[in-house]
Amino acid sequence: MRSIYSITRKKLEDYFINKNDKKFRATQIFDWIYRKNINSFDDMTNINKDSITNIKEDFYFNKIKIIKKQEDIDVKKYLFELSDKNKIESVVMYHDYGISVCISSQIGCNMGCTFCESGRLKKVRNLTVDEMILQILTIQEDIKQRISHIVIMGIGEPFDNYENIIDFINIVNDPYALAIGIRHITVSTSGIVPKIKLFAQDCPAVNLAISLHAPNNEIRNKIMKINKVYNIEELIESVKQYIKITNRRVTFEYIMLKDINDTDECAYMLAKLLKGINCYVNIIPYNETNNIGFKRSNTSQISRFCGILKEEKINVTIRREFGSNVSAACGQLRSEN
Ligand code: SAH
Ligand code: SF4
Repeated sequence: MRSIYSITRKKLEDYFINKNDKKFRATQIFDWIYRKNINSFDDMTNINKDSITNIKEDFYFNKIKIIKKQEDIDVKKYLFELSDKNKIESVVMYHDYGISVCISSQIGCNMGCTFCESGRLKKVRNLTVDEMILQILTIQEDIKQRISHIVIMGIGEPFDNYENIIDFINIVNDPYALAIGIRHITVSTSGIVPKIKLFAQDCPAVNLAISLHAPNNEIRNKIMKINKVYNIEELIESVKQYIKITNRRVTFEYIMLKDINDTDECAYMLAKLLKGINCYVNIIPYNETNNIGFKRSNTSQISRFCGILKEEKINVTIRREFGSNVSAACGQLRSEN
């Protein structure tokens, strides 16, 4: 038995073919689930009784429960409880171009970045495809509005849950399922190099963001354990390969940590590292947490840092901050509960 929300339409077609049933049943079922928002096989009135009896033996409908919600004008943050009582969070953000949801991909994270709440909490397990899809469906039902953009930047390292992420993206993008445009989907990784190369083949049109956070190995080693496995040179090389294959611009995320990675010298080093790469840098003001000692850089230093990058002809944006008073950073709501 598995959740009906965990399967792609192609795999459901194969399931029906194996059962000597009609392939188009998969599309019919997707239509009921994702267009008509039905959550019982018995309500699928255009599908014959035998097919329904069969599918009920192999698939079920499940739910995730909203246990806490925090709201601000432009952001809503959800804490969900899963069927095994683990908790995850998702954040909804209202933009002028649409509504995005930031999805969690794991319970905790094993990458151990020293500034991150999710890393502090360690990985319990990967999220299943249905648990990721249900974050979107449950939020859509709650806000009664359509989600237009997905960012996989919540709790967890998506490339440490690679196969599930690929199926998840397939369902999110499928015109018969959530029908969210492929260019409206963004995955953020801490830099698992082999998976970056694979992703270029598997999902060339999805936006890729790389959590760089440091201009050299010395600083990156101190704040991101993953750098000891795949260092900056290997990471940048994999990004160059990714761009060569996909012809897409890559985002480098850069958290500004006071006196750690935010000096003028760091800005010049970063510019040198990224020169000639089709990319832009997204500067993230650090969201301080009670449990971790890092401090957010001064606003004036953030502007200086961006100024240097611009002078050095690096595209740069400062991430708009959504409701920092609702614990908007990765893993914060969960660690408070
Ligand atoms: N594991 C993936 C995706 C989840 S983290 C990754 O690391 O890319 C998403 C982003 O949030 C990362 O860039 C991460 O470095 C950043 N982040 C983590 N803790 C944060 C905090 N307290 N304030 C601001 N950004 C944070
Ligand atoms: Fe994991 Fe990303 Fe947090 Fe690092 S920043 S610990 S990779 S969730």
